[in-house]
Amino acid sequence: MRKIIIAGNWKLNKTIKEAVELVNGLKQDLAQAKEVDVVVCPVYTSLADVRNVVAGTNIGLGAQDLYWEDAGAFTGEVSGLMLKDAGVQYVIIGHSERRQFFGETDATVNKKIKAALNHGLIPIVCVGEVLAERESNKTFEVIKTQVTGAFAGYTADEMKKIIIAYEPVWAIGTGKTATGDQAQEVHKFIRDLLKKLYDEGTAQTVRIQYGGSVKPENTRELMSQPDIDGALVGGASLKRDQFVALVQNANVKK
Ligand code: PEP
Repeated sequence: MRKIIIAGNWKLNKTIKEAVELVNGLKQDLAQAKEVDVVVCPVYTSLADVRNVVAGTNIGLGAQDLYWEDAGAFTGEVSGLMLKDAGVQYVIIGHSERRQFFGETDATVNKKIKAALNHGLIPIVCVGEVLAERESNKTFEVIKTQVTGAFAGYTADEMKKIIIAYEPVWAIGTGKTATGDQAQEVHKFIRDLLKKLYDEGTAQTVRIQYGGSVKPENTRELMSQPDIDGALVGGASLKRDQFVALVQNANVKK
């Protein structure tokens, strides 16, 4: 049985003070939420302070990106080595905003996964189609290209350590959520693809999160789907009451 994992992607939001205030609230409210894995992904400048709050709790710490080299002349970048040093456990890779605004490709995603695994970080690898691709029935083709490109050269043992987030780009920050059935269809496609690329055991082990306007009100329907193993949450992760309710609603029996 795969454990549900809810990760909050705070994107470019919250000063250190605001981040600490939010995570202190989550710590109070989610102390009992042991059936679900909970992760928060603040900006780099808040990582150390948030780590100090979540240390020893069931709330995990994630970063929103990393660079594939450990060190060197790469102004502005942060490496897996440095994230590990800062107490980070998870790292989002290939978010659609990074693909759209910062030139991320399946090839750079592939290199970043290696860097994450080399430093014992759990990659949360994002894939998803844009609206025009969905409307022209290219969703499966796009997902297949992204998944095969991202994981090219990775062994089954490495694959088992990776989390995939299916995030239809048209649903991110738009308030438009995929229905449970729409999301399940793509999650199943990804799991079947993993079975072809690896084996049944690997396909059944990998957790596949859904992302795109997840809110407390739609969490239960999404998490009840057999191949949805959690959520990557943007907007609703910025408010204590919403994120807490969302995590509570994610604890569904399958
Ligand atoms: C995200 O940024 O990964 C995301 C899913 O955002 P939102 O929940 O705001 O749609």
